[in-house]
Amino acid sequence: MNSNHRKVIIIGSGPAGFTAAIYAARANLSPLVFEGNQPGGQLTITTEVENFPGFENGIMGPELMDIMRKQAKRFGAEMIFKYVDKVDFSSRPFKIYSGKNEFTADAVIIATGASAKFLGIPSEQEFMGHGVSACATCDGFFFKEKDVIVVGGGDSAMEEATYLTKFAKKVTIVHRRDQFRASAIMIERAKKNPKIEFRLNEVVDEILGKNENGLKFVTGVKLRNVKTNQITELPVDGVFLAIGHKPNTEIFKDYLELDEMGYIKVKPGRTHTSIEGVFAAGDVTDKVYRQAITAAGMGCMAAIDAGRWLEEKELD
Ligand code: NAP
Repeated sequence: MNSNHRKVIIIGSGPAGFTAAIYAARANLSPLVFEGNQPGGQLTITTEVENFPGFENGIMGPELMDIMRKQAKRFGAEMIFKYVDKVDFSSRPFKIYSGKNEFTADAVIIATGASAKFLGIPSEQEFMGHGVSACATCDGFFFKEKDVIVVGGGDSAMEEATYLTKFAKKVTIVHRRDQFRASAIMIERAKKNPKIEFRLNEVVDEILGKNENGLKFVTGVKLRNVKTNQITELPVDGVFLAIGHKPNTEIFKDYLELDEMGYIKVKPGRTHTSIEGVFAAGDVTDKVYRQAITAAGMGCMAAIDAGRWLEEKELD
């Protein structure tokens, strides 16, 4: 076998990927982990994680991921800071590509997680990183004493809006309905916050901005009331999107069965995908729980499932 062959390749480095790596490494499967474009996954762009068991006083997201990475390395997992841009699961060993590099694996664990969704309007792309953001914890700091909007009506929107009040002068939550998807406690917290206002039944039609001397910035938004179609302009300095996530499954769609929302389908209660030898764990297959701890649990399950499958095939 070539030197780019592994028994187990893990794609993704969030709680699912690293937990799979810890278990696979301890089972002597010498896993190789592709860390991707966002090593550590979504937790690296959060602040404090208060609900991961074992950390009584909470822990910062990036630190938690760093500990998981070190723990996996201690047992011999190999990490590679590369992004997988293509796979070929049509025959075994499975092929995994990163640029011009080809890797092969007897078993693959997919833990590529999910990414923030965008509105899909042209002005959003134009001002992305120049006043438009999908991560309040990453970019909130740049909006000290500014006015911002948060788009969405779920827990993320409430959480991000509340977080942004630490910096911003005013935060307006723009939601397309008058009912929230968020949990009661999160809505209440946002409603009680004197810096937060709401615009309901409204959508962002356009993000307004300027391009002065090569410097782009947001100056406002055009909001459309979905009931009356009335358009109003709201002057703001920042637009934060909190409209949910989509699973990172683009490169797998030609091979694996996905559900109607693009999540990888797994056998109920297990991590087996529609291709024997390919397993999936974490947010890439879970649209219900989406928690660090459930992702970690599924990573453990995937490593055990992969190990048992390799044993059955006498590839271990
Ligand atoms: P979500 O629950 O899917 O909510 C997305 C929100 O964005 C919905 O209100 C939706 O409106 C709106 N939306 C979607 N597409 C839109 C579009 N194109 N234009 C305008 N609005 C749009 O996503 P989430 O808030 O990110 O939460 C995801 C999961 O993580 C949930 O299970 C949540 O409970 C959990 N979470 C928990 C916490 C916490 O407990 N601390 C924090 C964050 C997230 P509609 O309601 O009209 O569909």
